[in-house]
Amino acid sequence: YSMAPVNVKKICCIGAGYVGGPTCAVIALKCPHIQVTIVDLNQARIDAWNSPDYALPIYEPGLVDVVRVARGRNLFFSTSIDVAVQEADLIFVSVNTPTKKSGVGAGFAADLNYVESATRHIAAVATSSKIVVEKSTVPMRTAESMRTILEANSKPGLRFDILSNPEFLAEGTAIDDLFAPDRVLIGSLQTPEGKSACQSLTNVYANWVPVDRILTVGVWSSELSKLAANAMLAQRISSINALSAICEATGANIEEVAHAVGRDTRVGPKFLRASVGFGGSCFQKDILNLVYLSESLHLPEVAAYWRQVVTLNEYQKRRFSKRVVDTLFNTITNKNIAVLGFAFKADTGDTRESPAITLIRDFLSERAHVTVYDPQVEVSQIWFDLSEALPDVPLEQIKKQVTIANTALSAAQNSEAVVVATEWKEFRDIDWRAVYDTMKKPAFVFDGRMILDRDALREIGFEVMTIGRGDQL
Ligand code: NAD
Repeated sequence: YSMAPVNVKKICCIGAGYVGGPTCAVIALKCPHIQVTIVDLNQARIDAWNSPDYALPIYEPGLVDVVRVARGRNLFFSTSIDVAVQEADLIFVSVNTPTKKSGVGAGFAADLNYVESATRHIAAVATSSKIVVEKSTVPMRTAESMRTILEANSKPGLRFDILSNPEFLAEGTAIDDLFAPDRVLIGSLQTPEGKSACQSLTNVYANWVPVDRILTVGVWSSELSKLAANAMLAQRISSINALSAICEATGANIEEVAHAVGRDTRVGPKFLRASVGFGGSCFQKDILNLVYLSESLHLPEVAAYWRQVVTLNEYQKRRFSKRVVDTLFNTITNKNIAVLGFAFKADTGDTRESPAITLIRDFLSERAHVTVYDPQVEVSQIWFDLSEALPDVPLEQIKKQVTIANTALSAAQNSEAVVVATEWKEFRDIDWRAVYDTMKKPAFVFDGRMILDRDALREIGFEVMTIGRGDQL
């Protein structure tokens, strides 16, 4: 076995989702000399990636332009996993790692079933040595499990070097993040083989990422860094949201507080916006993963510390729903509430763990009628998420209480309140006077994302409630 880094010519990515799709499309774009094949078990998803009119399975600004250039040149989407694995020198494993729903560690631990299946698949079909890269966010020491599985199940004489290369892109800005990442993190075993594999992957990224942004560390540090990064980002949101509750009770203003605190260069101004709470498939899942890890390591105080970040987030969402009900004269039964935004953040169609779902669930349990509008989320996705959020309510019943609108203005028609649940830019630019005219009076706006001009809305006649201000209404 040569210690020289492999000159990567063919890459396979297992998992054509929010991470595998954009990351490997960008690798293909930036490395025309490498053939990149993204594979998935989900035929519909692959068909969408291959669709002639670029109706891609995920919405991400700039993604279509990348796929347009690279697809069919050196970027391919396929369900033929075996061939793609056999041909590749380097394989990304970018499958989903959701929180376990049942069994040991239910509600906390990551479900590693998909990672294990993908790993076993590689072992079963590989006919040459591979570099296998954990792209999925995984519990610590998953690299070790993958290596054990690969070595126990593959043909004799093959080598598998496992790298950890967690993805730090944020949905909504994925393409910009991938073009100019703050850093690329590659973790490997500190053996000659591990370091050589690490160099092979470094060489791929070095095609467009400045080398001083490519950090190479030990594999366990790399796995923990991904959990740590998400935990600390979410912690920042929970910290500002915890302070927003104090503001509301005292008359302080969270935006002034955030600005003042963020001016301290040690704190920094970013990610200090109070809101209805964070969503997305990662923050909660990765923190719970960290909680589970801490408990497994018999570190209960550490577990309790991180768990509180999630608890506070739940509290923030509940607090917001309660304020909507309280403000609407303590009852929303049979009232029309327009919810603007269903995605978990702006510039994505992704709804996983979206705060909008929690809010709507709360409004429906108060027997309100809800009209939803989101510029990107598919109608079928909204029904799917609401049935999941209300498992005891038949979908026909949900459909009686919920309407899906095509525009923000039509969603607001005849409503007593408009609730902004996602920070889509277009919500700022709505003709709010027209919205006001269609609504019942008094007309309430609840800005769960702090994106609206409160004074301008008041000028029109709205009663406005935002987050973290004591001088409400
Ligand atoms: P996703 O659900 O969008 O995509 C995963 C894909 O893997 C699915 O299409 C699924 O069909 C496919 N898959 C599962 N098992 C497979 C198998 N054995 N063979 C082939 N295909 C298989 O998930 P995602 O959002 O892309 O996340 C993937 C991983 O990346 C997760 O571990 C996540 O924590 C991590 N991550 C996500 C983000 C994000 O913003 N979404 C950011 C950083 C890291």
